[in-house]
Amino acid sequence: MTALALEPAHVRRLQARLLSWYAKAKRDLPWRRTRDPYAVWISETMLQQTRATTVIPFYERFLAALPTVGALAEAPQQQVLGLWSGLGYYRRARMLHAAAKHVVTAHGSRLPEAVEELRGLQGVGAYTAGAIASIAFGRRAAVVDGNVARVLARLYSIEDDVRAARGNAGMWALAQRLVDRLRGESGDWNQALMELGATVCLPREPRCDECPVRGQCSGRASGIAKQLPRMSRKGRPLTVERVAVVLASPARVLLARRRVDLLFGGLWEPPSTDGEIGALAARLQVDLRGLDHVGDVVHVLSHRRMEVKVMRGALVRKGPSLLPGPDYDAVARVDLAHLGERPQASLTRKILEVANVCPRGLRSGAK
Ligand code: SF4
Repeated sequence: MTALALEPAHVRRLQARLLSWYAKAKRDLPWRRTRDPYAVWISETMLQQTRATTVIPFYERFLAALPTVGALAEAPQQQVLGLWSGLGYYRRARMLHAAAKHVVTAHGSRLPEAVEELRGLQGVGAYTAGAIASIAFGRRAAVVDGNVARVLARLYSIEDDVRAARGNAGMWALAQRLVDRLRGESGDWNQALMELGATVCLPREPRCDECPVRGQCSGRASGIAKQLPRMSRKGRPLTVERVAVVLASPARVLLARRRVDLLFGGLWEPPSTDGEIGALAARLQVDLRGLDHVGDVVHVLSHRRMEVKVMRGALVRKGPSLLPGPDYDAVARVDLAHLGERPQASLTRKILEVANVCPRGLRSGAK
Protein backbone atom coordinates (compact mmCIF):
# COMPACT_ATOMS: atom_id res chain seq x y z
CA MET A 1 0.00 0.00 0.00
CA THR A 2 1.46 3.35 -0.92
CA ALA A 3 1.12 6.04 1.73
CA LEU A 4 -2.27 7.66 1.28
CA ALA A 5 -2.53 11.41 1.12
CA LEU A 6 -4.74 12.30 4.06
CA GLU A 7 -6.35 15.62 3.36
CA PRO A 8 -6.61 17.48 6.73
CA ALA A 9 -10.16 18.80 6.29
CA HIS A 10 -11.38 15.36 5.21
CA VAL A 11 -9.78 13.69 8.24
CA ARG A 12 -11.25 16.31 10.58
CA ARG A 13 -14.77 15.79 9.22
CA LEU A 14 -14.42 12.03 9.29
CA GLN A 15 -13.24 11.99 12.88
CA ALA A 16 -15.78 14.50 14.15
CA ARG A 17 -18.68 12.63 12.53
CA LEU A 18 -17.59 9.20 13.64
CA LEU A 19 -16.88 10.28 17.23
CA SER A 20 -20.20 12.06 17.54
CA TRP A 21 -22.03 9.03 16.11
CA TYR A 22 -20.19 6.74 18.54
CA ALA A 23 -21.13 8.89 21.54
CA LYS A 24 -24.81 8.42 20.69
CA ALA A 25 -24.97 5.00 19.06
CA LYS A 26 -22.48 2.84 20.96
CA ARG A 27 -23.82 -0.32 22.51
CA ASP A 28 -23.87 -0.40 26.29
CA LEU A 29 -21.28 -3.12 26.91
CA PRO A 30 -19.98 -3.77 30.45
CA TRP A 31 -16.32 -3.09 29.57
CA ARG A 32 -17.28 0.32 28.22
CA ARG A 33 -18.32 1.40 31.70
CA THR A 34 -14.76 1.28 33.01
CA ARG A 35 -11.24 2.38 32.14
CA ASP A 36 -9.68 0.06 34.68
CA PRO A 37 -6.67 -1.29 32.73
CA TYR A 38 -7.12 -4.79 34.15
CA ALA A 39 -10.78 -4.92 33.10
CA VAL A 40 -9.90 -3.57 29.64
CA TRP A 41 -7.18 -6.22 29.32
CA ILE A 42 -9.59 -9.04 30.29
CA SER A 43 -12.28 -7.82 27.90
CA GLU A 44 -9.91 -7.32 24.97
CA THR A 45 -8.40 -10.77 25.49
CA MET A 46 -11.84 -12.37 25.60
CA LEU A 47 -13.01 -10.41 22.56
CA GLN A 48 -10.26 -11.79 20.32
CA GLN A 49 -12.13 -14.00 17.84
CA THR A 50 -15.30 -13.95 19.97
CA ARG A 51 -18.47 -11.87 19.64
CA ALA A 52 -19.27 -9.23 22.24
CA THR A 53 -22.63 -10.77 23.14
CA THR A 54 -20.95 -14.13 23.82
CA VAL A 55 -18.24 -12.52 25.93
CA ILE A 56 -20.52 -10.54 28.31
CA PRO A 57 -21.42 -13.34 30.81
CA PHE A 58 -17.85 -14.70 30.79
CA TYR A 59 -16.41 -11.22 31.41
CA GLU A 60 -18.79 -10.51 34.28
CA ARG A 61 -18.18 -13.90 35.91
CA PHE A 62 -14.41 -13.57 35.52
CA LEU A 63 -14.20 -10.08 37.02
CA ALA A 64 -16.54 -11.00 39.88
CA ALA A 65 -14.31 -13.96 40.80
CA LEU A 66 -10.92 -12.34 40.05
CA PRO A 67 -11.36 -8.57 40.27
CA THR A 68 -7.69 -7.55 40.23
CA VAL A 69 -4.49 -8.53 38.54
CA GLY A 70 -3.24 -9.76 41.93
CA ALA A 71 -6.26 -12.01 42.38
CA LEU A 72 -5.69 -13.46 38.90
CA ALA A 73 -2.00 -14.02 39.56
CA GLU A 74 -2.74 -15.92 42.77
CA ALA A 75 -5.62 -18.01 41.41
CA PRO A 76 -5.02 -21.70 40.71
CA GLN A 77 -4.85 -22.44 36.99
CA GLN A 78 -7.84 -24.77 37.27
CA GLN A 79 -9.96 -21.85 38.54
CA VAL A 80 -8.84 -19.61 35.65
CA LEU A 81 -9.59 -22.32 33.11
CA GLY A 82 -12.91 -23.02 34.83
CA LEU A 83 -13.93 -19.38 34.44
CA TRP A 84 -12.88 -19.56 30.78
CA SER A 85 -14.71 -22.86 30.13
CA GLY A 86 -16.93 -22.58 27.08
CA LEU A 87 -15.21 -19.48 25.68
CA GLY A 88 -12.67 -21.42 23.61
CA TYR A 89 -9.08 -20.54 22.73
CA TYR A 90 -7.86 -21.71 26.14
CA ARG A 91 -4.31 -20.77 25.35
CA ARG A 92 -5.44 -17.17 25.82
CA ALA A 93 -6.46 -17.94 29.41
CA ARG A 94 -3.18 -19.67 30.20
CA MET A 95 -1.13 -16.80 28.78
CA LEU A 96 -3.29 -14.23 30.57
CA HIS A 97 -2.63 -16.05 33.83
CA ALA A 98 1.14 -16.16 33.20
CA ALA A 99 1.15 -12.48 32.21
CA ALA A 100 -0.73 -11.52 35.40
CA LYS A 101 1.99 -13.17 37.48
CA HIS A 102 4.59 -11.21 35.53
CA VAL A 103 2.71 -7.93 36.04
CA VAL A 104 2.68 -8.56 39.80
CA THR A 105 6.38 -9.38 40.06
CA ALA A 106 7.86 -7.11 37.38
CA HIS A 107 5.46 -4.12 37.36
CA GLY A 108 4.26 -3.92 40.97
CA SER A 109 0.77 -5.18 40.02
CA ARG A 110 0.18 -2.25 37.64
CA LEU A 111 -0.21 -2.83 33.93
CA PRO A 112 2.38 -0.87 31.95
CA GLU A 113 1.02 2.01 29.85
CA ALA A 114 3.23 1.95 26.76
CA VAL A 115 2.48 -0.28 23.79
CA GLU A 116 6.04 -1.66 23.67
CA GLU A 117 5.93 -2.71 27.33
CA LEU A 118 2.44 -4.16 27.02
CA ARG A 119 3.63 -6.21 24.07
CA GLY A 120 6.20 -7.79 26.35
CA LEU A 121 3.40 -9.56 28.23
CA GLN A 122 2.51 -13.09 27.18
CA GLY A 123 -0.50 -13.17 24.88
CA VAL A 124 -0.55 -9.40 24.31
CA GLY A 125 -0.13 -8.69 20.61
CA ALA A 126 -0.26 -5.43 18.70
CA TYR A 127 -4.05 -5.26 18.78
CA THR A 128 -4.47 -5.88 22.53
CA ALA A 129 -1.57 -3.59 23.43
CA GLY A 130 -3.05 -0.78 21.31
CA ALA A 131 -6.48 -1.30 22.82
CA ILE A 132 -5.24 -1.20 26.43
CA ALA A 133 -2.90 1.75 25.81
CA SER A 134 -5.58 3.83 24.10
CA ILE A 135 -8.72 2.87 26.04
CA ALA A 136 -7.29 2.58 29.56
CA PHE A 137 -4.41 5.07 29.39
CA GLY A 138 -5.44 7.49 26.63
CA ARG A 139 -2.20 6.85 24.69
CA ARG A 140 -2.16 7.68 20.99
CA ALA A 141 -2.02 4.07 19.93
CA ALA A 142 -3.77 2.53 16.93
CA VAL A 143 -5.63 -0.77 16.75
CA VAL A 144 -6.38 -2.87 13.71
CA ASP A 145 -8.68 -5.85 13.97
CA GLY A 146 -10.98 -7.33 11.32
CA ASN A 147 -13.60 -4.61 11.81
CA VAL A 148 -11.12 -1.74 11.64
CA ALA A 149 -9.39 -3.17 8.57
CA ARG A 150 -12.72 -3.48 6.76
CA VAL A 151 -13.83 0.05 7.61
CA LEU A 152 -10.51 1.64 6.65
CA ALA A 153 -10.19 -0.38 3.45
CA ARG A 154 -13.62 0.84 2.40
CA LEU A 155 -13.23 4.43 3.53
CA TYR A 156 -9.97 4.79 1.57
CA SER A 157 -10.62 2.27 -1.25
CA ILE A 158 -7.57 0.25 -0.27
CA GLU A 159 -7.26 -2.75 -2.53
CA ASP A 160 -4.20 -4.41 -1.02
CA ASP A 161 -4.61 -7.85 0.52
CA VAL A 162 -5.00 -7.09 4.23
CA ARG A 163 -3.90 -10.60 5.19
CA ALA A 164 -0.57 -10.18 3.40
CA ALA A 165 2.32 -8.64 5.33
CA ARG A 166 2.51 -5.52 3.16
CA GLY A 167 -1.23 -4.84 3.23
CA ASN A 168 -1.39 -5.44 6.97
CA ALA A 169 1.55 -3.12 7.65
CA GLY A 170 -0.04 -0.45 5.46
CA MET A 171 -3.28 -0.76 7.40
CA TRP A 172 -1.50 -0.29 10.74
CA ALA A 173 0.37 2.71 9.37
CA LEU A 174 -2.87 4.31 8.19
CA ALA A 175 -4.60 3.61 11.51
CA GLN A 176 -1.69 5.22 13.37
CA ARG A 177 -1.70 8.30 11.15
CA LEU A 178 -5.39 8.77 11.83
CA VAL A 179 -4.83 8.45 15.58
CA ASP A 180 -1.99 10.96 15.38
CA ARG A 181 -4.32 13.52 13.76
CA LEU A 182 -7.01 13.02 16.34
CA ARG A 183 -8.41 15.85 18.42
CA GLY A 184 -10.48 13.62 20.70
CA GLU A 185 -9.83 10.52 22.80
CA SER A 186 -7.88 7.81 21.00
CA GLY A 187 -9.72 5.09 22.94
CA ASP A 188 -13.07 6.44 21.75
CA TRP A 189 -11.80 6.74 18.18
CA ASN A 190 -10.54 3.15 18.11
CA GLN A 191 -13.75 1.87 19.60
CA ALA A 192 -15.80 3.98 17.20
CA LEU A 193 -14.07 2.36 14.22
CA MET A 194 -14.63 -1.09 15.70
CA GLU A 195 -18.27 -0.30 16.50
CA LEU A 196 -18.91 0.97 12.98
CA GLY A 197 -17.46 -2.27 11.60
CA ALA A 198 -19.47 -4.42 14.00
CA THR A 199 -22.85 -2.73 13.54
CA VAL A 200 -22.97 -0.72 10.27
CA CYS A 201 -20.07 -1.46 7.92
CA LEU A 202 -20.90 -5.19 7.91
CA PRO A 203 -18.81 -7.67 5.92
CA ARG A 204 -21.37 -8.73 3.29
CA GLU A 205 -23.99 -6.00 3.43
CA PRO A 206 -22.65 -2.63 4.60
CA ARG A 207 -25.53 -0.41 5.70
CA CYS A 208 -24.24 2.65 3.90
CA ASP A 209 -27.54 4.50 4.15
CA GLU A 210 -27.22 4.52 7.95
CA CYS A 211 -23.51 5.26 8.00
CA PRO A 212 -22.40 8.51 9.67
CA VAL A 213 -19.34 8.79 7.40
CA ARG A 214 -20.90 7.84 4.07
CA GLY A 215 -20.02 11.29 2.72
CA GLN A 216 -16.34 10.58 3.41
CA CYS A 217 -16.33 7.02 2.06
CA SER A 218 -14.35 6.54 -1.12
CA GLY A 219 -15.31 2.86 -1.45
CA ARG A 220 -18.99 3.71 -1.42
CA ALA A 221 -18.53 6.59 -3.88
CA SER A 222 -16.71 4.33 -6.32
CA GLY A 223 -19.10 1.40 -5.85
CA ILE A 224 -16.47 -1.08 -4.68
CA ALA A 225 -17.17 -1.08 -0.93
CA LYS A 226 -18.70 -4.56 -0.90
CA GLN A 227 -15.65 -6.08 -2.56
CA LEU A 228 -13.37 -4.70 0.16
CA PRO A 229 -11.28 -5.56 2.02
CA ARG A 230 -9.43 -7.92 -0.28
CA MET A 231 -8.19 -10.96 1.58
CA SER A 232 -6.28 -13.99 0.45
CA ARG A 233 -8.17 -17.19 1.23
CA LYS A 234 -7.31 -18.97 4.42
CA GLY A 235 -6.20 -22.53 4.00
CA ARG A 236 -8.84 -25.13 4.78
CA PRO A 237 -8.72 -26.20 8.44
CA LEU A 238 -7.00 -29.47 9.09
CA THR A 239 -9.41 -32.32 9.85
CA VAL A 240 -8.52 -34.36 12.92
CA GLU A 241 -10.37 -37.60 13.61
CA ARG A 242 -10.58 -38.76 17.22
CA VAL A 243 -12.37 -41.38 19.25
CA ALA A 244 -13.62 -40.45 22.72
CA VAL A 245 -14.49 -43.12 25.28
CA VAL A 246 -17.13 -42.07 27.81
CA LEU A 247 -17.12 -44.47 30.75
CA ALA A 248 -20.05 -43.60 33.00
CA SER A 249 -22.09 -45.07 35.83
CA PRO A 250 -25.42 -43.58 36.96
CA ALA A 251 -23.50 -41.21 39.27
CA ARG A 252 -20.00 -40.80 37.84
CA VAL A 253 -18.01 -40.35 34.67
CA LEU A 254 -14.34 -40.91 34.01
CA LEU A 255 -12.51 -37.76 32.92
CA ALA A 256 -8.84 -37.10 32.23
CA ARG A 257 -6.95 -33.81 32.26
CA ARG A 258 -4.96 -32.83 29.16
CA ARG A 259 -1.33 -31.90 29.51
CA VAL A 260 -0.94 -28.15 29.75
CA ASP A 261 1.27 -27.84 26.65
CA LEU A 262 -1.37 -29.36 24.34
CA LEU A 263 -4.50 -28.06 22.65
CA PHE A 264 -7.18 -27.82 25.40
CA GLY A 265 -4.33 -28.05 27.94
CA GLY A 266 -5.47 -28.18 31.58
CA LEU A 267 -9.06 -29.04 30.61
CA TRP A 268 -10.91 -32.24 31.51
CA GLU A 269 -12.47 -34.55 28.94
CA PRO A 270 -13.45 -38.15 28.39
CA PRO A 271 -10.25 -39.98 27.38
CA SER A 272 -9.76 -39.79 23.65
CA THR A 273 -7.25 -40.68 21.01
CA ASP A 274 -6.43 -39.97 17.40
CA GLY A 275 -4.63 -43.28 17.27
CA GLU A 276 -5.63 -46.88 17.94
CA ILE A 277 -8.84 -47.27 19.94
CA GLY A 278 -7.52 -50.68 21.08
CA ALA A 279 -4.59 -49.08 22.88
CA LEU A 280 -6.87 -46.60 24.64
CA ALA A 281 -9.30 -49.35 25.64
CA ALA A 282 -6.42 -51.38 27.07
CA ARG A 283 -5.27 -48.47 29.23
CA LEU A 284 -8.84 -47.94 30.37
CA GLN A 285 -9.11 -51.67 31.13
CA VAL A 286 -12.30 -52.07 29.10
CA ASP A 287 -13.23 -54.68 26.54
CA LEU A 288 -13.83 -53.09 23.14
CA ARG A 289 -16.96 -55.27 22.82
CA GLY A 290 -18.38 -53.45 25.85
CA LEU A 291 -18.28 -50.07 24.09
CA ASP A 292 -21.23 -48.76 22.05
CA HIS A 293 -20.85 -46.19 19.29
CA VAL A 294 -23.48 -43.66 20.44
CA GLY A 295 -22.87 -40.83 17.98
CA ASP A 296 -20.43 -38.40 16.41
CA VAL A 297 -19.48 -34.83 17.18
CA VAL A 298 -18.04 -32.23 14.82
CA HIS A 299 -16.28 -29.27 16.39
CA VAL A 300 -14.70 -26.55 14.28
CA LEU A 301 -11.84 -24.45 15.61
CA SER A 302 -10.18 -21.64 13.68
CA HIS A 303 -7.37 -23.89 12.51
CA ARG A 304 -8.80 -27.39 12.64
CA ARG A 305 -11.98 -29.38 12.34
CA MET A 306 -12.39 -32.11 14.95
CA GLU A 307 -14.50 -35.14 14.06
CA VAL A 308 -15.04 -37.21 17.18
CA LYS A 309 -16.56 -40.67 17.28
CA VAL A 310 -18.19 -41.11 20.71
CA MET A 311 -18.06 -44.55 22.34
CA ARG A 312 -19.78 -45.22 25.65
CA GLY A 313 -19.25 -47.99 28.17
CA ALA A 314 -19.93 -48.75 31.80
CA LEU A 315 -17.73 -47.33 34.53
CA VAL A 316 -17.17 -50.14 36.97
CA ARG A 317 -16.69 -49.59 40.67
CA LYS A 318 -12.90 -49.91 40.93
CA GLY A 319 -10.88 -48.99 37.93
CA PRO A 320 -9.34 -47.65 35.91
CA SER A 321 -6.66 -45.56 37.52
CA LEU A 322 -3.96 -45.56 34.84
CA LEU A 323 -3.45 -42.40 32.82
CA PRO A 324 -5.28 -43.02 29.53
CA GLY A 325 -2.32 -41.97 27.39
CA PRO A 326 0.59 -39.57 26.98
CA ASP A 327 -1.74 -36.59 26.36
CA TYR A 328 -2.98 -36.66 29.97
CA ASP A 329 -1.53 -35.81 33.36
CA ALA A 330 -4.45 -36.73 35.66
CA VAL A 331 -7.51 -38.95 35.67
CA ALA A 332 -10.56 -38.90 37.96
CA ARG A 333 -13.94 -40.51 38.47
CA VAL A 334 -16.04 -37.36 38.62
CA ASP A 335 -19.33 -37.19 40.49
CA LEU A 336 -21.93 -36.05 37.93
CA ALA A 337 -23.34 -33.56 40.41
CA HIS A 338 -19.93 -31.83 40.40
CA LEU A 339 -19.22 -32.15 36.68
CA GLY A 340 -19.36 -28.38 36.17
CA GLU A 341 -16.51 -27.81 38.62
CA ARG A 342 -13.96 -29.31 36.23
CA PRO A 343 -12.87 -26.90 33.47
CA GLN A 344 -14.01 -28.28 30.13
CA ALA A 345 -14.03 -27.21 26.49
CA SER A 346 -17.40 -26.94 24.78
CA LEU A 347 -16.30 -29.95 22.69
CA THR A 348 -16.41 -32.02 25.89
CA ARG A 349 -19.94 -30.82 26.66
CA LYS A 350 -21.00 -31.93 23.17
CA ILE A 351 -19.40 -35.35 23.67
CA LEU A 352 -21.07 -35.84 27.06
CA GLU A 353 -24.37 -34.71 25.58
CA VAL A 354 -24.13 -37.30 22.81
CA ALA A 355 -23.32 -39.91 25.45
CA ASN A 356 -26.36 -38.81 27.48
CA VAL A 357 -24.21 -37.78 30.43
CA CYS A 358 -25.26 -34.59 32.17
CA PRO A 359 -24.69 -33.04 35.62
CA ARG A 360 -27.90 -34.59 36.93
CA GLY A 361 -26.81 -38.10 35.99
CA LEU A 362 -27.28 -40.45 33.07
CA ARG A 363 -30.41 -39.48 31.21
CA SER A 364 -33.26 -41.99 30.87
CA GLY A 365 -32.64 -44.27 27.95
CA ALA A 366 -28.90 -44.21 28.55
CA LYS A 367 -27.31 -47.57 29.04
FE1 SF4 B 1 -18.79 1.19 5.29
FE2 SF4 B 1 -20.73 2.06 3.68
FE3 SF4 B 1 -19.95 3.52 5.75
FE4 SF4 B 1 -18.35 3.25 3.67
S1 SF4 B 1 -20.36 4.23 3.69
S2 SF4 B 1 -17.77 3.09 5.81
S3 SF4 B 1 -18.81 1.14 3.06
S4 SF4 B 1 -20.96 1.51 5.83
